[in-house]
Amino acid sequence: MVQRFLWPVCRRASHLARQQYDVIVVGGGHAGTEAAAAASRVGAHTLLVTQKVHTIGALSCNPSLGGVGKGHLVKEVDALDGVCGRAGDWAGIHFSILNRRKGPAVWGPRAQLDRQRYRQFIQSELLSTSRLTVLEGSVEELLVTESNPEEPGCHRVTGIRLAGASLPISAHSVVLTTGTFLSGSLFMGQNTSPGGRIGDAPSSAGMSHTLRERLGLKMGRLRTGTPPRIVKASVDFDQATLHPPDSQPSPFSFLNSHTHCKAEEQLPCYLTYTTPGVDKVVKESLHLNCHIQQDTKGPRYCPSIESRVLRFPGRQHQVWLEPEGLTSDLVYPQGLSMTMPPDMQLHLIREIPALHRAEIHTPGYGVQYDFVCPTQLSPALQVKSTQGLFLAGQINGTTGYEEAAAQGLWAGVNAARAALCMPTMALSRTESYIGVLIDDLVTRGVTEPYRMFTSRAEFRTSLRPDNADLRLTLKGFAEVGCVSSRRYQQTVRVRDSLQDALAALRDVSLSATAWRLKLPRVHISEMKAANPTGLEMLQYNDATFEMLVSVFPECLSPYTEFSQRLKIEAVYRPHCVLQQKEIARIQKEESMSLPQDLDYLSLPVSLSQEVREILDRVRPSTLGAATRLQGVTPAAIAHLFNYVLHSG
Ligand code: FAD
Repeated sequence: MVQRFLWPVCRRASHLARQQYDVIVVGGGHAGTEAAAAASRVGAHTLLVTQKVHTIGALSCNPSLGGVGKGHLVKEVDALDGVCGRAGDWAGIHFSILNRRKGPAVWGPRAQLDRQRYRQFIQSELLSTSRLTVLEGSVEELLVTESNPEEPGCHRVTGIRLAGASLPISAHSVVLTTGTFLSGSLFMGQNTSPGGRIGDAPSSAGMSHTLRERLGLKMGRLRTGTPPRIVKASVDFDQATLHPPDSQPSPFSFLNSHTHCKAEEQLPCYLTYTTPGVDKVVKESLHLNCHIQQDTKGPRYCPSIESRVLRFPGRQHQVWLEPEGLTSDLVYPQGLSMTMPPDMQLHLIREIPALHRAEIHTPGYGVQYDFVCPTQLSPALQVKSTQGLFLAGQINGTTGYEEAAAQGLWAGVNAARAALCMPTMALSRTESYIGVLIDDLVTRGVTEPYRMFTSRAEFRTSLRPDNADLRLTLKGFAEVGCVSSRRYQQTVRVRDSLQDALAALRDVSLSATAWRLKLPRVHISEMKAANPTGLEMLQYNDATFEMLVSVFPECLSPYTEFSQRLKIEAVYRPHCVLQQKEIARIQKEESMSLPQDLDYLSLPVSLSQEVREILDRVRPSTLGAATRLQGVTPAAIAHLFNYVLHSG
């Protein structure tokens, strides 16, 4: 992993080499950086406009990447040649696989990050991406026209206008990734001020106005918050439990065989708990806490300490004390997001034994922001009523860096494809967590900040972190056009080697008695086959590929590099084979497109008024998407299927 040469950034619109781009990406957060990089990889001349270039790649909240469900997204973004996985490998200072007690299909690769290093890597990567120009500026207005004057309500995006600039910048496609900045307000105690993040102004009111009034988009409001940062020297780590990193750190990226920070250089995290004193401070400060008094929905799975105490009074809550960087003097207390006044924040943290003399470096705060209801988007993340306008990240009602990065990549791919006159594409929920994420957003919408879980994926035994490259890299190269030939060649080599290894495992066999003699440490139950193969033996819990190599060194030793992948593949293979039938059925339904101009309210088929209204509101793009809408019955799907089959 080598840091690349930095190209100069354009700080003025008038210095741009061109005033017309294929794609403009607004916002340099997690969605925007992946969108800009992906659009450039597909071949589009791309402009990334962001308020402050030095905040590109900033981690607004927790300095970490991955986790359960989220780690799958990072692996998939990497498999499609995205940036965040490699940045995580470069910046990680504590790698661990979460959920190890469960099967490898739901393991959660996670890393604690060094904030500075992560930002440096992302900036260095973007500023040296070909066809990509980075411009510092604030977009004040989104430019749109009626695409067909006969058909009001259908628009086309034409470009943007920057604050303080008279000339517009034109583009075929625009990707909005403005995060928590759209009409953003910050909250601390009883104080409220406009802002998208501490130290950063919100997005201009003009942008919200265009989305809401001009384009008629339905919008909502959500909230999130961040904990105070604590001075490391003031923490009593002896009163917390040490959690070391994994002894063998696993990189996120399929391109990396090791992480930048060696195992012995990595830093530990610590676990501690809240006390009844914490509950007391929360309750006593409620009347001074504007953010918590509001009805706006916050992240259910990453709640503030106030919400945790109010929902589960009297419970001890976990608090993780995590390093902010290799040389940082600060600690991030995960689980203590709070918005009470700063003096009460200090009282609260000092109620925790390990923090009894802690000093706060920066107080916690909350943010409330507008989001666009994502059912108004197609599976390509394009606004259905506005050609060329794509949305990705927190603006679509999600929370988390990984969710933002995954959407950003896919919106960037499609914005570029649309600009280069190629059809836009969808990822199916049968092939990726990114497909699950986007399908959930565009068919079900959100009522609270959406985050990824493994339980959202029906086919999680097939959609594993270990095989994201085989699922997506080959398609990303051959069909999507966002994967480099270097990565493609590497994946082809891996695929071919795995196929050869599986064939070799099928070719070796012994009698049941001989296996028992050769593998005395494996607990072998009754066997169906008279002469079980190596592949069947590998399915036993305590069998490893290395054990089989010791029995058949000549045939199997060429594949030791893939021992863990082969073990996982062998264990899940029988289940995945059974799942294939269900996957094929869903893929068939997904391939039946529903015309976007269908008049569901007067369609001459037997549908209840309720179903008609749901279909009319969401306008699913495929029959498969219609089946997943709440309230649409199997009978309604059958009628719809027959209608589309016979009318087309
Ligand atoms: P962001 O990372 O917010 O990036 C938006 C970018 O757009 C910024 O670079 C901004 O400068 C730029 N921008 C905005 N408007 C304009 C404009 N008009 N012109 C040019 N540039 C513009 N996630 C969790 O999972 N758990 C948490 O606990 C959590 N807590 C959070 C607490 C806070 C205070 C904040 C701010 C965020 C928190 N998040 C949390 C959310 C997490 O930071 C986001 O999910 C993630 O950063 C979203 O990425 P994004 O790319 O959509 O937006």
